[in-house]
Amino acid sequence: MAAETVFGKIVAGEIPVEILMETERVIAFPDQSPQAPVHVLVIPKTTEYRDVAALAAGDPTLLAEMVDVSQRIAAAHGDGDFRLLFNNGAGAGQTVFHVHAHVLCGGLEERSLV
Ligand code: 5GP
Repeated sequence: MAAETVFGKIVAGEIPVEILMETERVIAFPDQSPQAPVHVLVIPKTTEYRDVAALAAGDPTLLAEMVDVSQRIAAAHGDGDFRLLFNNGAGAGQTVFHVHAHVLCGGLEERSLV
């Protein structure tokens, strides 16, 4: 079980966010510091997985569900195309250790890998 994080508090309803999409196991809400015209975080409700590597090893079906929700967010809030980013580990810039996908879309101006 991952240590309690801000996203665990969001899942528990202790920190209010605008829920853009919800499934039985996943929620999506806007990033508080957007880096694109549309910047949404897609997270599992479980606090079990600290990063995408742990999730891929432990529950690949849940990872696939996060990708599906990301695609639906991009269709609903952008033009359907999207960039999907996982920071995996502090050295890669991860700051919240509850696995999350950054969905970036809605008019990305250029190809970027960072
Ligand atoms: P990381 O750097 O771990 O990949 O991304 C964490 C993201 O969570 C950051 O983009 C940051 O802006 C976002 N974030 C952190 N705390 C909150 C919060 O309380 N609410 C929302 N909506 N986003 C948050």
